[in-house]
Amino acid sequence: MVGSGGREHALALCLARTAEVVVTPGNPGMAGTEGITVSPEPPEALGADLVVIGPEQPLVDGLADRLRADGRLVFGPGADGARLEGSKAFMKEVLVEARVPTARHGVFDDARDARAFLRELPGPWVVKTDGLAAGKGVFVTDSVAEAEADVAAKLSGERFGDAGRRVVVEEGLSGPECSLLVLCDGTRIAALAPASDFKRIGDGDTGPNTGGMGACSPVPVVDDRLVDRVLDEAVEPVVATLRRRGIDYRGVLYAGLILTAEGPKVLEYNVRFGDPETQVVLPRLDEDLTGLLAEAAAGRLRTEPRTARAAAVCVVLASAGYPEDPRTGDVIDGVEVAGTLEGVTVLHAGTALDAEGNLVTAGGRVLGVTATGPTLGAARDRAYAGVGRIGWPGMQVRTDIAAQAALDERAARSAAGAR
Ligand code: AMP
Repeated sequence: MVGSGGREHALALCLARTAEVVVTPGNPGMAGTEGITVSPEPPEALGADLVVIGPEQPLVDGLADRLRADGRLVFGPGADGARLEGSKAFMKEVLVEARVPTARHGVFDDARDARAFLRELPGPWVVKTDGLAAGKGVFVTDSVAEAEADVAAKLSGERFGDAGRRVVVEEGLSGPECSLLVLCDGTRIAALAPASDFKRIGDGDTGPNTGGMGACSPVPVVDDRLVDRVLDEAVEPVVATLRRRGIDYRGVLYAGLILTAEGPKVLEYNVRFGDPETQVVLPRLDEDLTGLLAEAAAGRLRTEPRTARAAAVCVVLASAGYPEDPRTGDVIDGVEVAGTLEGVTVLHAGTALDAEGNLVTAGGRVLGVTATGPTLGAARDRAYAGVGRIGWPGMQVRTDIAAQAALDERAARSAAGAR
């Protein structure tokens, strides 16, 4: 397993149910867990039977290709497939070719052309960096002037360096959002349970975008029929288009969807497990994950993943100053106690041990407190009980993760009961 975040911690725990797992570089939360070893060695040196690559950057950089050339079985696309996430302009090109519903858009490296296009759109307006920006390169606004200023800041390189020197400008869509993680073996696909994540830093979806402040699964507004529709309209055609272009995609296709009045549309594709969606999808999976990923990596995906445990909620705890300027080195309290609560698992994302052996903050998103339960409401209560035990100076946490989803689920259950 390659990576060091909360997603990789969740993956490692799930893989360790049926495999001996080595994580590189890993994090202090994984070290010391039975069945999991943390190693500083590069992935090429580990001699693993199966390599699972967590983050997007090494995929975009061609790590999967290098390992495959060395004869390894790898779960994760090569650099050709990873361009879906490495370039939003390329992703849009594939969506258009595959006739997948998505927002009206244009791709620009010239501010004047971008401005002219912005003025054609009715608003709200969305400006995205073409390149990778850790989930922070998307700006959504009701002000065309703000959109123009953002285009200028991105294109100049001032805000996101080279990742922003080309931008995708698009119409703002509205509706509930959801993420669908789909395993792909180059031809066949198998969807995991839908999840939704919470991108803004503040309660009520306010403030800047982050890598994700929490997640929940299931998503009450997304039923099996809708999942099938998305697979038919938005995932199968993308896999077919990639194949037509000679791309043998073996890994996760992560569809970011928005459920508009006209039907589901794709906001984006990512090429790896979502973070923090993975932290709520995997605890619900009733399947041998190692076997599933090995099948996909070998081009022989046969198993249909079953979902058990009714619900899971993950609440992310972020450091002071995140997302602009995260502070590191604050001593974290309460992780062990939180992990003893019923249904609760504390996943490490940005932690380190200081010279005295204290667990300290070492990144923007520091911990994810995940809980399972018989309902979203119960899972949410358990997750927040865990959150209540943990603290450090300046810790940031949203108080409304999955609150609306828990209400929607309750309403749907009582409507079903009345029928
Ligand atoms: P992305 O990284 O493209 O998924 O964008 C991050 C977030 O920005 C999404 O989860 C949405 O909340 C928002 N967003 C992106 N594109 C649009 C759009 N066309 N309309 C409205 N919101 C959007």
